[in-house]
Amino acid sequence: MSESATMPTTRPDGTAYAGARSEDEWRSELSPEEYHVLREAGTERPFTGEYNETKTTGVYACRACGHELFSSETKFTSHCGWPSFWSPLAGENVVLLPDDSLGMRRVEVRCAHCGSHLGHVFEGEGYDTPTDQRYCINSVSLRLEPAAS
Ligand SMILES: [Zn+2]
Repeated sequence: MSESATMPTTRPDGTAYAGARSEDEWRSELSPEEYHVLREAGTERPFTGEYNETKTTGVYACRACGHELFSSETKFTSHCGWPSFWSPLAGENVVLLPDDSLGMRRVEVRCAHCGSHLGHVFEGEGYDTPTDQRYCINSVSLRLEPAAS
């Protein structure tokens, strides 16, 4: 998706995102960097995100709406520069959309609750993980909720 495109307010099946808000509301609640990535489908610079190398046990929630998205149990070291997971917490927690921007066929990952942009998912890259999928997610789209110790 190009950065000038309007974010869709409905899922691919036509149902509304329960956590959708107006862009004005998002703009006032999110930092400029969060807004750029979550609402304009931007990408943080590789190797700069706060969760790139994080191994803390816990659950990663959507930074925009708090919907739980990924578990630290499926986070793996991909050396790609962004937090990488081999599976979402549950398939229905995310929405996958074809993305042909940048001249590539990619699959975009969005929060299933609020529709905000999270990153992309790639597969068949040969990582030694149970799914051979890599959910490549911007740190700024996530907020880690550490498990109680
Ligand atoms: Zn969300």
